[in-house]
Amino acid sequence: MRLDGTVDLVGGGRLGPGLSNPYDSNVYLLRTGEGAWLVDTGCGLGRAELAARVSGALDGRAPAGAVLTHAHPDHAGGAAGLVDDLGIPVLAGAGTARLVRVGDHDRLGLTAALRAGLYPAGYRFAACAAVAGIEAGTVPGAGGLRALPTPGHCEDHTAYVFTGGDGTTYAFTGDLVFARGRVVVAADSDVRLLRRSLEAVLAERPDVLLPGHGTPVLSDARWHLERALEAFDQGRLPAAFG
Ligand SMILES: [Zn+2]
Repeated sequence: MRLDGTVDLVGGGRLGPGLSNPYDSNVYLLRTGEGAWLVDTGCGLGRAELAARVSGALDGRAPAGAVLTHAHPDHAGGAAGLVDDLGIPVLAGAGTARLVRVGDHDRLGLTAALRAGLYPAGYRFAACAAVAGIEAGTVPGAGGLRALPTPGHCEDHTAYVFTGGDGTTYAFTGDLVFARGRVVVAADSDVRLLRRSLEAVLAERPDVLLPGHGTPVLSDARWHLERALEAFDQGRLPAAFG
């Protein structure tokens, strides 16, 4: 699904566009001057379907790589399959990379999520030994894409920011914040850090907000971030998403 000349939405489950496996996060394809990069990888179920969408969006070519916002299985469970199928590098914040390399269900929040029925019974996270940790700042080889540490939703969480040639700034916010300023407070969330991370994204003055679930916002991204901050300021814990 082409969003504009720079970004496609190539995957997303039942909390989003229903393009790929129901349990997938949104998966974006960003076209940079150094090839196309995926942001998040879905849960790994139905990986052939997702790979076909990626390939279709790129006229059969492979993307240059993928970045992960965080280690929760709906975002990172597809990394191992992408490495196997496409041989592309997968990069993530250092803490996320460690979690994805090991794939421990408890530390990924998957044990509790399986118990709560958030994934199909029998779902297993595919650890991905090839995920490399990156620092804050410019992502190597990704055409100016920048990693912005945004902890809060979980301990290690990274938003990615990209400014296109026309000056449009895109913020890929993972599970930090969604359209209309909705925020997830999960078992491993830190609300104080989450608020600070919202401010960090707002300081980038993004135009386009590309969250890990739900509706992508193609203009006026800052309005949505301000709604989330306003909820904090008014002492309203934001409603969980789905
Ligand atoms: Zn998450």
